[in-house]
Amino acid sequence: GLFAAQALTTQDRVPVEVDIYDRLPAPYGLLRYGVAPDHESIRSVADALAQVFEHDNVRFCGFVEFGQGLTRREALLAYDAIIYAAGAAEDMRMHVPGEMVAGSTSAREFVAWYGGHPDARPFHLAGVHTAVAVGVGNVAVDVARILLKSADELSWTDMPQDVLDELRTSSVREVYVVGRRGPQYAAFTTKELRELCGIDGVQVTISEGAFDGIEEKTLDRRRRTNLEVLRAAVARDVPQPRARLHFAFWSRPIEIGTAHVAGLERVTEVVLERTQIDAARLVGTGQTHVVPAQLVLRAIGYRGAPLPDVPFDVDRGVIPNEEGRVVTLDGEPCPQEYAAGWIKRGPIGVVGTNKSDAAETVAHLLDDLEQAPPRPHLLDAHE
Ligand code: NAP
Repeated sequence: GLFAAQALTTQDRVPVEVDIYDRLPAPYGLLRYGVAPDHESIRSVADALAQVFEHDNVRFCGFVEFGQGLTRREALLAYDAIIYAAGAAEDMRMHVPGEMVAGSTSAREFVAWYGGHPDARPFHLAGVHTAVAVGVGNVAVDVARILLKSADELSWTDMPQDVLDELRTSSVREVYVVGRRGPQYAAFTTKELRELCGIDGVQVTISEGAFDGIEEKTLDRRRRTNLEVLRAAVARDVPQPRARLHFAFWSRPIEIGTAHVAGLERVTEVVLERTQIDAARLVGTGQTHVVPAQLVLRAIGYRGAPLPDVPFDVDRGVIPNEEGRVVTLDGEPCPQEYAAGWIKRGPIGVVGTNKSDAAETVAHLLDDLEQAPPRPHLLDAHE
């Protein structure tokens, strides 16, 4: 949303006024609450975006929930154009038994907790010795890193004090990162993988046979370098490690085992099934093994949530659009309405990806404004 506002305020094709609405009282969304607090350089993108608010023609309207404080109808009457940039507020499910019991949750909730999101519920790590992150993307890497770093390594960040206190007493000694395919298919980026594998005092291991049969020549540079980083990490012997990081590739959870602990049904283990590719399809082999665990974080992708009255593609979790111009599910244009970011293209790409994404949307918006006849505003947005 802020990249879109930045693109609008730094062009001279059409004079604009921009009102930025947010459900939360403060701006910066994922940058503030989703980017890991120890990733200072990514977070500093917010400093650059802060300049958007310096413009006299930009207003921030916090604490306004779309559909309640501002409805789609009102917005269409008050503004020439609306850009939906609501991100991906939900997450994917694994659909395995035990997924919803205490101790099994989404990485999104865990990230919200350590990022100090106002909606976050507190996490208690007492009794957690082994944690399992499902998925091998950058979110899985983030949560594994936060669990494995010592509290001293995080104390300089702006993590809430209660989170730091909880992490300081953490007894997590084993973290599994589970990939349903091999390391050559992992989604994480090399910089993030290198950082995770380089945490002091942590021994890295990988599932047996994970490197077998990989045709490295067919891989792009990121994937080849990822393999190099993993090979070097498992070859490094860490004397008396304070914690262990296990990469379990070619494995998928088929069940989360539970037991009643102090009157509450809680996670006690994860049943992993070995997988393989058969005729270009990922299939289970029937071979299973059990990982005793007290915390399971699914990091298998985020998902957009529908905005009230706005067209929504339920299968893809996005607002249907053509290069940012919103259309109905039948492909009919919705004049005045635009989308940017994850709600436009799905939850992929790093923070910077949203800059070019927003620029594309804004370019189309300006084309349309230049061609549209001036429209009377039937509602005053500033009221
Ligand atoms: P992601 O990169 O799409 O990774 C999702 C992972 O979950 C993949 O390994 C995927 O495996 C796996 N998966 C999906 N469905 C699964 C299932 N049913 N069972 C088991 N595994 C499953 O998503 P993400 O980690 O949520 O990250 C979202 C975006 O934010 C990415 O573009 C990421 O790079 C970005 N991000 C960046 C940073 C950073 O730069 N530091 C930090 C966090 C996030 P398959 O490949 O087999 O589908």
